[in-house]
Amino acid sequence: MLGNPILADTKLIDGAVLAEKVKADVVLKVAELKARGVTPGLSVVLIGDDAASAVYVGSKERTSHELGMAGETIRRPATITQDELIAIVDQLNADDHVHGILVQMPLPKHLDADAVIRRIRPDKDVDGFHPVNVGKLLIGEKDGFAPCTPSGVLYMLQASGIPTSGANCVIVGRSNIVGKPMASMMIQPGVDSTVTVCHSRTRDLGAETRRADILIVAAGRAEMVTADMVKEGAVVIDVGMNRIPDATKKSGSRLVGDVAFDGVRKVASRITPVPGGVGKMTIAMLMANTVRAAAQLSR
Ligand code: NAP
Repeated sequence: MLGNPILADTKLIDGAVLAEKVKADVVLKVAELKARGVTPGLSVVLIGDDAASAVYVGSKERTSHELGMAGETIRRPATITQDELIAIVDQLNADDHVHGILVQMPLPKHLDADAVIRRIRPDKDVDGFHPVNVGKLLIGEKDGFAPCTPSGVLYMLQASGIPTSGANCVIVGRSNIVGKPMASMMIQPGVDSTVTVCHSRTRDLGAETRRADILIVAAGRAEMVTADMVKEGAVVIDVGMNRIPDATKKSGSRLVGDVAFDGVRKVASRITPVPGGVGKMTIAMLMANTVRAAAQLSR
């Protein structure tokens, strides 16, 4: 006896497995480029000593090396001036060995992050935040770079064989790094979902999320989407990463998503866990963007 048949049918979408697939493909492409004398190079700029940023940057550098790419992290203190940071970006823009440039956000408050993003050459902007790349994503031009987290979500849906065409896709969150680019991706011809984007002013969030065949949550609110907000059989993608207190853990806290996992998995047909879901995909997609940047720049 399998118990609850809905529970038995529920399947996890495993970010770790899918991220390995993306990285294996990157390794092949790196080898092809190296055979032509090109070693893809990713340069990450880290300003200040934010602990979380240091961890993210460390794993970006490590992963790029593991996949055979050249990767460097340029570290500068939080006292850096705007002009000094712009000069670093200009230097990386001009360096033929650098194919991908990423300035780790958030920047210290005295720096103008928008101006820094706009200074990065769009054809090296592997984070996909430059307005040129934002525009290319929206109009469906394939040679631009899309932000890594929503790219990872789309990859997860497609690699898991989840039909997107005609599906009602509801996205919770409208940030420039997740919600908005996610919406741009889901409405593209070929993906063909019907998209609703919700945010903090949405009048009846549950009414919107219950219409979703595909529900993508990126609100940064621990476990805010509960089972009663999800249609039976929906595919639920949880982008959220929130630390909540947990006295049973040595660290005193644990990581949870924006979806109340235990309840929602009983009604969802597919669901991503946190950790082990979308988070695993983001760095993999960054590597995929970098290797494509190297291929495009060395044509
Ligand atoms: P953000 O910039 O804070 O945006 C959050 C969005 O959610 C905003 O649009 C906000 O609406 C909306 N929102 C907040 N509370 C809401 C509510 N109660 N009802 C409806 N909408 C609500 O966050 P973000 O950068 O997009 O990140 C979202 C989450 O994803 C965070 O937990 C973050 O840690 C995680 N994340 C994970 C990865 C990864 O690699 N897995 C990458 C990036 C982000 P308003 O616009 O109206 O304020």
